[in-house]
Amino acid sequence: MTVRVRIAPSPTGNLHIGTARTAVFNWLFARHHGGKFILRIEDTDLERSRPEYTQNILDGLTWLGLNWDEGPIFQSQRLEVYRQRIQDLLDKGLAYRCYTSTAELEELRAAQAARHEAPRYDNRHRDLTPEEQAAFEAEGRRPVIRFKIDDDREISWNDLVRGKVSWKASDLGGDMVIARTADTAEFAIGQPLYNFAVVVDDIDMQITHVIRGEDHIANTAKQILLYEALGTKVPEFAHSPLILDRQGRKLSKRRGVTSIFDFKKLGYTAEAIVNYMMLLGWSPPDSTKEIFTLQEAAKEFGFDRVNQAGAKFDWDKLNWLNSQYLHALPASQLCDLLIPYWQEAGYEFDPATAHPWLEEIAALIGPSLVRLPVSSSDLKDPQWVKQITDLKNDEDNPGPSLVPEPDAVEMSRYLFVSDLEFSEEAKAQLHQEGAKTALEGILKAVDSDRSLTAADYQEIIKQVTKAQNVKKGLVMRSLRAALTGDVHGPDLIQSWSILRARKLDLLRLQQALRNDE
Ligand code: GLU
Repeated sequence: MTVRVRIAPSPTGNLHIGTARTAVFNWLFARHHGGKFILRIEDTDLERSRPEYTQNILDGLTWLGLNWDEGPIFQSQRLEVYRQRIQDLLDKGLAYRCYTSTAELEELRAAQAARHEAPRYDNRHRDLTPEEQAAFEAEGRRPVIRFKIDDDREISWNDLVRGKVSWKASDLGGDMVIARTADTAEFAIGQPLYNFAVVVDDIDMQITHVIRGEDHIANTAKQILLYEALGTKVPEFAHSPLILDRQGRKLSKRRGVTSIFDFKKLGYTAEAIVNYMMLLGWSPPDSTKEIFTLQEAAKEFGFDRVNQAGAKFDWDKLNWLNSQYLHALPASQLCDLLIPYWQEAGYEFDPATAHPWLEEIAALIGPSLVRLPVSSSDLKDPQWVKQITDLKNDEDNPGPSLVPEPDAVEMSRYLFVSDLEFSEEAKAQLHQEGAKTALEGILKAVDSDRSLTAADYQEIIKQVTKAQNVKKGLVMRSLRAALTGDVHGPDLIQSWSILRARKLDLLRLQQALRNDE
């Protein structure tokens, strides 16, 4: 048997973390078994589905590296197939037309509520005679199609995550609607509904394992009855745990950051997000190893190690993973990721020729980064800024800051600009006794065009320290203040080397000596 799984998002919103995590599990399972991962767009809800959401979902899955083997298949293009199968069920007497009006349904629900009963349809039109049907049609009533549910049934399946799951058919709310009211008399069968379309598709696409969120468990019970009615084998089911916030509540789609591209905008890498999502519910066999590419995880993935309990979303863990990925990136790649942000900040350089020293900057600041920068165009979007700020201020589950700390753009400013600004502490440092003499000493020692190695820089500092009989710390701090405009920051020798490559080091030393502020 070839494993065939699918991700079936509804394009009623942007690609959401919950759907993306389900996609990750499907992808890993398919790859583990050498199977197929199929993409289906569930756009039967015509009012709420939007092409831009479909695009966002396709782009998001692509960005995450979750490549699909077949599809996208659009449900909206298969409405006739669903209608045909509904007709088959009608012909077999497994489904029927129900003419109960909205007012009658409301009355039924009110009576049930008064008796403290759960709402359910009382199957009143299950056995209408042709005359009764004709009479309702003559009244102008338009029917929905209901599928008969035998209340005495118990539905059970062996869930790959949760073991044996059982549902009483009597808890499914009575005979279920599988097609809405037809808009015009011309259509005997109206819009097919979610649970029915899913089953028809999963049958036609030969899906062997339905992997989806725990919130679909009640649908699974209904769908198993539909598989039986349609005369096909029931696939395996795996219901993965929900993603929860820190308080243990279901992660809201409306509050905070849940759309995949918001994570991208916040400076998270696709590799870190995907890695984080696989750990939301799956425990790798070796608990000391948490960093996985998709390919590595696919080798080890199985539902025997997917937990039943909800998975708590933890920003600290995501930040840690993201920093691990950024730190491991080769400088040339990190440099390519940072160039657009440096350009946006207005730093002047020609990417074609500046690559060597830009890469040195990436190598210098890379090890301290937790996130990539946030684009200034996003920082100008008031709605997005509010969304992220609200998330940060959410006491229950505080999110990341709008601007990352440290920020690669700010952190490297001193290596780009020609007009260096000095912090108050740097100015104070330059006024320390012996500071300017130390800088003069350094200027003399390097006042030539020859290129210098890391050992040369160290040697110059050592010589000046010795010749002037001062503490090395004074020389280092004064040099840092003069070269970087600050008293803290990335490695001094590497900074100096980059500034030297840019022919800025001597200028800065001279400026510092002239500056009497
Ligand atoms: N369209 C459903 C959703 O977005 C998924 C259905 C399924 O996986 O069966 O939640």
